[in-house]
Amino acid sequence: MPAQVINGKEIVSAYRAQIKEEAAQLTQQGVQPGLAVIIVGDDPASHVYVRNKAKACEEAGMYSEVHQLEAATSEADVLALIESLNQNPKIHGILVQSPLPKHISEEKIVEAIAVHKDADCFHPVNVGNLMIGKEGPAPCTPAGVIAILKKIGYDIAGKHAVVIGRSNIVGKPMAILLLRENATVTVVHSKTPNMAEITRQADILVAAVGKAKMIKKEHVKPGAVVIDVGINRLDTGKLAGDVDFDDVLDTASYITPVPGCVGPMTITVLLRNTLEAAKRALQSQVNV
Ligand code: NDP
Repeated sequence: MPAQVINGKEIVSAYRAQIKEEAAQLTQQGVQPGLAVIIVGDDPASHVYVRNKAKACEEAGMYSEVHQLEAATSEADVLALIESLNQNPKIHGILVQSPLPKHISEEKIVEAIAVHKDADCFHPVNVGNLMIGKEGPAPCTPAGVIAILKKIGYDIAGKHAVVIGRSNIVGKPMAILLLRENATVTVVHSKTPNMAEITRQADILVAAVGKAKMIKKEHVKPGAVVIDVGINRLDTGKLAGDVDFDDVLDTASYITPVPGCVGPMTITVLLRNTLEAAKRALQSQVNV
């Protein structure tokens, strides 16, 4: 029997409806959640992502600002903009779209964002808090994956999860969140020999590699849940995941489509992080 294709649209719209409701309540109490997105340069894919984020904010009744800066903008100017957003009470979440031009240090930029306005969970303090299980913003893509698994009613505890990829923004935080859900977690990467032998043991397989259609049926245990994080642009202009969807369809039990599932769910977590930061801002006003 072919895998059930996870209905990303349905899942995302349910989560966003809840966020919209909470955002409206907060706005009524005098704090409209606000997100600022900074984009430097003219990478076309990044501009699409930023537009989608701003549109999602508007649809959720949140305030959003997009700061489009020229590729030649100096690091000092980007840092000055971040500092002004850190001080701006209308803004509760700040996101700097990557990639940045080479003359700008991603590390400096991420560390300049106020810890309580870090909408992506990229700041080292928030990454540390994530590691030790303290409260803070959720890493958007990995938390989106967990939310998808929960929405389909999948019981993660005790399952073997294999994460392909170990980047700071997807693979590593994904492993931490799966551990937190009591999965047994293995991470594989480009230096892992015989990767398929390991991925074939996975009940939950999360692919975050950045290589179009690399994961085939020989990588997948029959009945596994396959979550495809990858977004790759093919020569045809179409988008493809890291998983060869057609090849894996008859082996997996559930599979996420690309596009239309993990991508929009990632934006949903970004909205949730902004909302939660706005709630904390309201709370601190109340407590003054
Ligand atoms: P990175 O390039 O930062 O990391 C890729 C990881 O894959 C690395 O850990 C690398 O290993 C590993 N890898 C590369 N080749 C192989 C291989 N042949 N076998 C096993 N592992 C391999 O990418 P990201 O984590 O940032 O993104 C991964 C994918 O997810 C991309 O397609 C990206 O576009 C997409 N993405 C999607 C998002 C969404 O919202 N849906 C959000 C963020 C990313 P090593 O460390 O050894 O080099």
